[in-house]
Amino acid sequence: MVDYLTAILPALIPSMAFIWLKFQQSQMPFTTEVFAKEYDYIVVGAGSAGAVVANRLSENPFVSVLLLEAGGYETYQSEIPMMAARLQLSEWDWKYKTVPQKYACQGMKNHQSAWPRGKILGGCSSLNYMLYVRGNRKDYEIWERLGNPGWGYDDLFYYFIKSEDNRDPDVLKNGYHGSGGYLTVSTTHYTTPIAGAFLEAAKLFGYPNNDINGASQTGFVVPQGTIRRGARCSTSKAFLRDIRGRGLQFLVDAPVTVVQPRVMVAKSFTQWASLGIGPLTMLGGLDGIGFIHTKYSNRSEDWPDVEIHFIPSCPSSDGGESVRKNMNLKDELFMKIYSKYLYTDTYSYYPVLLRPKSVGYLMLQSANPYDPPIMDPKYLSHPDDAATLVDSLKICIKMALSKPFQKFRPQNWPVKWYGYLVKGIKRGAPIKPGQAPVPKVLLEPKPEKGPKGPIGHLVNIFSKSGFKKLTKRIQWPLFA
Ligand SMILES: Cc1cc2nc3c(=O)[nH]c(=O)nc-3n(C[C@H](O)[C@H](O)[C@H](O)COP(=O)(O)OP(=O)(O)OC[C@H]3O[C@@H](n4cnc5c(N)ncnc54)[C@H](O)[C@@H]3O)c2cc1C
Repeated sequence: MVDYLTAILPALIPSMAFIWLKFQQSQMPFTTEVFAKEYDYIVVGAGSAGAVVANRLSENPFVSVLLLEAGGYETYQSEIPMMAARLQLSEWDWKYKTVPQKYACQGMKNHQSAWPRGKILGGCSSLNYMLYVRGNRKDYEIWERLGNPGWGYDDLFYYFIKSEDNRDPDVLKNGYHGSGGYLTVSTTHYTTPIAGAFLEAAKLFGYPNNDINGASQTGFVVPQGTIRRGARCSTSKAFLRDIRGRGLQFLVDAPVTVVQPRVMVAKSFTQWASLGIGPLTMLGGLDGIGFIHTKYSNRSEDWPDVEIHFIPSCPSSDGGESVRKNMNLKDELFMKIYSKYLYTDTYSYYPVLLRPKSVGYLMLQSANPYDPPIMDPKYLSHPDDAATLVDSLKICIKMALSKPFQKFRPQNWPVKWYGYLVKGIKRGAPIKPGQAPVPKVLLEPKPEKGPKGPIGHLVNIFSKSGFKKLTKRIQWPLFA
């Protein structure tokens, strides 16, 4: 990587200078060192929620608000959607890990799943993948029924619209979106050639290409993201930067297939910095998402049980630099599965359980706020979760090899690890320890009781010599 960077550095310098200038212009300091004796409100954490709360409270000129944030300012790296994965394990990440998992994460170091969390203005909205996914109507309704008046879908719909500034006229006209709000939502300007196959394959399986935040969630789409002119629109950018005159005071802890050699080139940086277009606008490198029903879900209801993330890459696409580390993959596993295929063309289906039944817990380790909490999701401890996941993997594999992909000639991945265990997993039967190596935390609003963060698994498919001319291989699910 160092050699590679050195080679492109001369071309990169002007683009980076431009990006830096652009970034600096939007970064005026707004912290304070002079504090009032008291405030009407103190908001702890300028993350996704904190930034919005501070903004709305300070709309009243007679109210004083102090917003405290443990992290520092956003950086030019957090502005570039494609570089989202590189923010993890950095100084802007709390770098949490779950406790070692008994039934899952066997492919991860010490059987621990990495749980990134933003330690930065904007919190996780400054390092997340920016997918604009509101959640399912029925989940909110269940949430309300559980004893949360005012949290039903119709109540929240008002706030979705109020918050949103959707920049895509085609999406806006369907009646489920708002314009003029603080949070910019737009459609990414770039997809890889294989994104079309993802959508076409979905249609073959009876899933429409639709707005998953619109009338019905079940379906597939190239998702919209919280991006403004091709750059990340964190809640800090959306809700804090423009209200600096309001008397709100801040304290931050300052000093304040996507194959890497193909997309991380000077041209991409120039396109992004000058016009807000090109591969760097991809939402964390993702091409599409879909909501499906496994055989355990009632297809007549718009309440899918699995979400699929379609990513035109896999942990070896960046040469093993960041995704491998972010996922906490064991070295021997990476060497065995991926090391021969660094920078190779691949695509991956990541199915994500939307309603896991496994229940874990989260508790404080001590009274010291800097000690990480103890987090045990107990992934796959409920046998139904494993069965649902296995069924979703089967669907993913069928879709990933269906006709629309055939022009790319996808093939089985050569190392079939854990694949045989798929057969042994049945709904109702307890999963054996070690059956599932790579669960991953995710990411969506999940208004239900139960473990925070659904889990996901991978199906990687690859091509050795570019999307047009492929050698043969599809990787069996890492999970199974
Ligand atoms: C890698 C990743 C990708 C994701 N991708 C998506 C996506 O594509 N789409 C989506 O909808 N969701 C996504 N999410 C989830 C989403 O970003 C989070 O659910 C959401 O941002 C959480 O908001 P929050 O306000 O609860 O917490 P946060 O945004 O994490 O805010 C908490 C803030 O409090 C600060 N803080 C903590 N302790 C203290 C303290 N003692 N004093 C002062 N400040 C403190 C933190 O530094 C942080 O800034 C993703 C999350 C991650 C980690």
